[in-house]
Amino acid sequence: MKIAIIGMGPAGTGVVRTLRRHDSDAEITMFSAENVPPYSPPALGDYLITGNKEGLFRHEDDFFKTYNVKQRPGEKIVQVMPEEKQLKTQNNEIFDFDHLVIASGSSLYAPVKGADKKGIYNFKTLDGADQIKRISQEDKTAVVLGGGFIGVEIALCLAKIGIKPTLLNRRGWIMPRLLDVETAGYVEKDLRAQGVEVLLNTEGKEFVGNESVDGLLTSNGKTLTADIYIAATGVKPNIDFIKDTDIEYDQGIVVDEKLRTRYPYIYACGDVAQTIDLLSGKRKIHGLYPVAMDHAQTAACNILGMEREYERPVNINSLKELGFKIIVVGNQKAEEVFEYKTENILRKIYITADKIVGFVLLGDISNAGIYLSLLKKKTNVAKFKHRLLSKGFSPGFLPGMGGVN
Ligand SMILES: Cc1cc2nc3c(=O)[nH]c(=O)nc-3n(C[C@H](O)[C@H](O)[C@H](O)COP(=O)(O)OP(=O)(O)OC[C@H]3O[C@@H](n4cnc5c(N)ncnc54)[C@H](O)[C@@H]3O)c2cc1C
Repeated sequence: MKIAIIGMGPAGTGVVRTLRRHDSDAEITMFSAENVPPYSPPALGDYLITGNKEGLFRHEDDFFKTYNVKQRPGEKIVQVMPEEKQLKTQNNEIFDFDHLVIASGSSLYAPVKGADKKGIYNFKTLDGADQIKRISQEDKTAVVLGGGFIGVEIALCLAKIGIKPTLLNRRGWIMPRLLDVETAGYVEKDLRAQGVEVLLNTEGKEFVGNESVDGLLTSNGKTLTADIYIAATGVKPNIDFIKDTDIEYDQGIVVDEKLRTRYPYIYACGDVAQTIDLLSGKRKIHGLYPVAMDHAQTAACNILGMEREYERPVNINSLKELGFKIIVVGNQKAEEVFEYKTENILRKIYITADKIVGFVLLGDISNAGIYLSLLKKKTNVAKFKHRLLSKGFSPGFLPGMGGVN
């Protein structure tokens, strides 16, 4: 059996690990647009700040040898031919497969004129992080367009290495898709304390300049200039190579519960696959590492004929470089909100129809695992919802664990 995998990120490598764990002797070939060994993108921030590569490569010096995989780094796939069971590389080479896994991930983007100009750095790849590292010195400045999760994470990392970032956000509070105004206030305060200038209600209109970017024209009519520009209002799946096929896509590739496309021998997993959210029941791109891991295991098991369905994901976000810990899970709107707050701590649990549909824990993340488990199991919390945030709340309160019946 010949298995081709597009992408060497967490999803692609996860597929390989699962295949080999189940003793598959399939011939596996991995393609990657980047000419580097597999790495873990969530560790890019730590790498930028400390220069430490351990988190990136997770002690696997030679992934391909360990897992007996043929590697084609730096070979971008430009076309998938589903009926023919073939791929075309950027060098016009044709490659045959029996099974294909599309694990091509996503790229940072901003739907703003000029966002493809030279001088806009891509902090979603190791090469992008290395480029920033090379030019970063004290007193450099940066403009980060996009005050969502990824923009905030990038601005914090830049501030930690002495760069002075300005973060632009279209709405009146940062991370508006994840946080309410009050929670965003705590995060904004910390961003400013760490040296990030936050511009709210400010939209990026156009990256100006000829070939290279010279500045960012904003909705206030000002042009911001900096040494480093980052366009990060969101991420978009890397799916150009299927656009001429009848593989269905929307925001990302549409898959069934086994992660198969309309072709049963072509799978999609990780940031490129659109799967059904546990809470909303709608298909979406979650863009999360644990989701990529579950997808990878699911796709690999199904290739081997071991029937498995993916676990419906929930949004779980945590910013790694703030001065305090924060975890944001699920919806931040509900019929009832239970909360506890002090100057440095904010804990909110969102409940609809007596079920936890989301929570935010800031400054004190204790019991996060318990709340997540209750949310995922859709446990009825009516009998103990008023105690969820009490100091002594423990698993002992839960049904079947010696507590509420
Ligand atoms: C800075 C940063 C911090 C993050 N922090 C967190 C976090 O704290 N928690 C969390 O859960 N998630 C986090 N994430 C998200 C997480 O990294 C992603 O969900 C995960 O990397 C998805 O894995 P993937 O394999 O699907 O895609 P990717 O990691 O994007 O890998 C895609 C692979 O496909 C290759 N590729 C793309 N196009 C082609 C093509 N045409 N031909 C061949 N190869 C191609 C790429 O070169 C790459 O090898 C973070 C991401 C970033 C960038």
